[in-house]
Amino acid sequence: MKRAEDVIILGLGAMGSAAAMHLAGRGCRVRGFDHFTPPHHQGSSHGRSRIFRQAYFEDARYVPMLLRARELWQQLERDAKQTLLHTTGALVIGRPGGEMVARSEQSARQFALPYELLDAAGLRKRYPAFAVEAGASALLEHNAGYLVPEDCITEQLRQAARGQAELHLEEPVLEWQAQPGGGGVTVRTAKASYSADRLLITAGPWAPRVLADLGLPLRVTRQVLYWFAPEGDLDDFRPARFPIYLLEPAVGLPLVYGFPVTGADTEGAKVALHGSEEVCTPETADRAIRPDDEATMRERLSTTVPRLAGRLLRAETCLYTMTPDEHFVIDQHPEHPAVTLAAGFSGHGFKFASVVGELLADLVTTGKSSFDLNLFSLKRLM
Ligand SMILES: Cc1cc2nc3c(=O)[nH]c(=O)nc-3n(C[C@H](O)[C@H](O)[C@H](O)COP(=O)(O)OP(=O)(O)OC[C@H]3O[C@@H](n4cnc5c(N)ncnc54)[C@H](O)[C@@H]3O)c2cc1C
Repeated sequence: MKRAEDVIILGLGAMGSAAAMHLAGRGCRVRGFDHFTPPHHQGSSHGRSRIFRQAYFEDARYVPMLLRARELWQQLERDAKQTLLHTTGALVIGRPGGEMVARSEQSARQFALPYELLDAAGLRKRYPAFAVEAGASALLEHNAGYLVPEDCITEQLRQAARGQAELHLEEPVLEWQAQPGGGGVTVRTAKASYSADRLLITAGPWAPRVLADLGLPLRVTRQVLYWFAPEGDLDDFRPARFPIYLLEPAVGLPLVYGFPVTGADTEGAKVALHGSEEVCTPETADRAIRPDDEATMRERLSTTVPRLAGRLLRAETCLYTMTPDEHFVIDQHPEHPAVTLAAGFSGHGFKFASVVGELLADLVTTGKSSFDLNLFSLKRLM
C-alpha cells in the first residue's frame, strides 16, 4: 500500500487527537474535525482522571498494547514537560470465589509486571478505608495509576498542530463519502467539502450515528462520576493508603472503582460505578444529576468504602460506547478500504489512547499494525 499523505480525521477526542499527533509527526497532511473544542464535556474523555493499569483481567492480549501505551504516555510527558501519568499503584480487590485477582495475576505473571498479593488481613491493615470481606484478596499492581485526560488531549492536539495538522474545531462533519474502489474520501461540513486519500473515524459516542451504514451493535450509556468529601482521617484517602482501586462486585452489581484525593483536599475523592443500563445518545443523555444517582452510589459505598460517602461535592455525567463483548472496534470499513475506524471503547479505552493513536497511524500509512488486532475486528460484530 502506498504511503497515505492526506488524511481526514473525524473526531479529535482521546483517539483522534492521538492519531492526529502521530500522523502529523510522520509528515502526512492531516485535517482533523470536531464538533467542539476538545477537551470538552460532551463525549467520553473528561472528569480529570482515568485509570491506567497493565495487569489486565479483561484479557491478557491487551498487555502488549499497554506496555507500549505506557512508553508513549511517558514520551508525551517528556514533550509536554508535565506529569500526565501519575503512578499511585492499582488495587484490584477480589471477592471470595471471584476471578478478577486471579485473572489480573495471570496477565502480570505472563508479562513480568511488578505486583504483590494481599489477603484480607493484609488489606485491612494497609488500606483501612476499604470494608474487606473475610476471604477477600487483592492484587496491588505497582506500575499503575491515573492519567489526566484533559491534559493528555490538550498536549496531543498541541503536538499535532506543531506537526502542521489543520484542526477544524467547532466544525461538525455532516456527512462523509468514500469513492468506490479506494479512490479517496470526501467530508462535508456546514462550511465546505474536503477531500483526502484516507478517512479515520474516531467519533466516540457519536460513532453509532457516523457509522450508521454498518448498523453496529454499539450501545451508548450514561455514566455518573462523583466526588465525595471522605469522613474521618483524610490521610486514609491519599495515594499511600488509598491507590486507585477496582472492587469486584457480587454477580448482578456494577463494579465500583475510584481514585485517591488527587487535587486539593477540598476537591474530595472521585468514585464511580462501571457500566449502566441507561442507554442514550449524546443528544438525549440526561446531563443533570438526579437524587436516584446519588442514592445508588451511596448504597454501593456503604458496603465497600463506607467512610468515602461523606458530603457529595460534585458529580458529572459522561458516556460509554459499549460493544456486546466489551472489546474495542479497530478495523477498516468493510466496503471502503480508504476508511479506518476506531470505536466502541466500552468504558476502558482512555489508557490505550496513546498506543491506539500510533497503531491507527500505522494502519492508515502502511495498512498493517505490529499488534494482533483480531480481538477488535468488525467481523465479530456483524
Ligand atoms: C465516566 C467514564 C470513566 C472512564 N474511566 C476510564 C478509565 O478509568 N480508564 C480508561 O482507560 N478508560 C476509561 N473510560 C473510557 C475512556 O474515557 C473512553 O474509552 C475514551 O475516552 C474514548 O475516546 P474517544 O476518542 O473514542 O471518544 P471522545 O474522546 O468522546 O471523542 C470523540 C470526538 O468525536 C467528535 N465527533 C463525533 N462526531 C463528530 C462529527 N460528526 N463531526 C465532528 N466531530 C465529531 C466529538 O465531538 C468528540 O470530541 C471512561 C469513560 C467514562 C465515560
